[in-house]
Amino acid sequence: MAQIFDFDTVILGGGPGGFAAGIYAARGAVSTAIVDISMLGGQPSNYLELENYPGFAQIGGYELMEKFEEHADKFGVNKFPMQEIVSVDLLSNPKVIVTNEAEFRAKSVIIATGAKPMKLGVPGEEEFVGRGVSYCAVCDGAFYKDKVVAVVGGGNSAVEEAMYLTKFASKVYVIHRRNELRADKIVQERAFKNEKLEFVWDTVVKEIQGSDLVNSIVVENVKSGETSSITVNGIFPYIGILPNVDNFTGQIEQDQRGFIVTDDTMKTSVDGVYAIGDVRVTPLRQVITAAADGAIGAVYAVKYLEALKEVTV
Ligand code: NAP
Repeated sequence: MAQIFDFDTVILGGGPGGFAAGIYAARGAVSTAIVDISMLGGQPSNYLELENYPGFAQIGGYELMEKFEEHADKFGVNKFPMQEIVSVDLLSNPKVIVTNEAEFRAKSVIIATGAKPMKLGVPGEEEFVGRGVSYCAVCDGAFYKDKVVAVVGGGNSAVEEAMYLTKFASKVYVIHRRNELRADKIVQERAFKNEKLEFVWDTVVKEIQGSDLVNSIVVENVKSGETSSITVNGIFPYIGILPNVDNFTGQIEQDQRGFIVTDDTMKTSVDGVYAIGDVRVTPLRQVITAAADGAIGAVYAVKYLEALKEVTV
């Protein structure tokens, strides 16, 4: 029989939001566990370097997440990595998370499961992640000073991030599968005035090529069927992101794309359940915003637990 653990708060996801929440919850003197489907550290563990986390002008993503983890350890946060989540019941009392190894019962749950960028699904994409393929212009743009890069997509993210990249790159191709952008008109107008942007219409990426680093992409014009090669040092697919919500859908309020709706205290539509970081509806998805969300969510989870105690006393 699976081992059963009881905690005041279980945090699902051990990225920056999860660790920050763990630190604040544990310092709030509630028993706290972080449960993650893989190794702890979340998405930033895969970033080569970060230059925008205050206090660290330059730090490896893995190194920063190690610091977050050491900090959480200092306050006695219990850690359960590599837990394949089988089911989550947020509506029961206590809330129950069943994994392949254990059952976790919690008076409150903080969802910090993050989001994943939609992938192009072409040869070379996985292979060159961190070596020319990036899903975060804010994180990696500065590494492309005076280089040529491509952004894929025609939505607000693709166009805004392409403009951001023109601060560094000498040229930015925007490769879009149609001949009309989906981005807001005002964003389009700004983009069309930007001389460093070159739009490649009706075109999809078929392959990402390189040796150590990316050096070109193979593209296909969807109207003519013609393929060609474009020389680039980097490629940023911005074709949408998806929240990691498989285990919660249907139990909690989400927007049309599945992101969890919260109020200013990170509370979701379910009492005792908070959502923080990339998984929630938020205007900016960064390490610092996830960490800030974690602090807020944990403080309000602790308040919720205190109120519960008063009711049961
Ligand atoms: P999005 O609006 O869904 O746009 C995704 C883009 O990628 C679309 O142009 C789409 O093409 C293209 N695409 C999708 N799958 C593709 C594939 N397999 N291959 C090639 N291209 C593909 O996503 P987003 O830009 O990430 O924005 C998501 C939401 O956040 C939107 O509601 C957006 O308005 C909002 N947002 C707002 C702001 C802002 O207000 N400042 C900033 C960023 C995002 P099609 O156009 O042909 O479908």
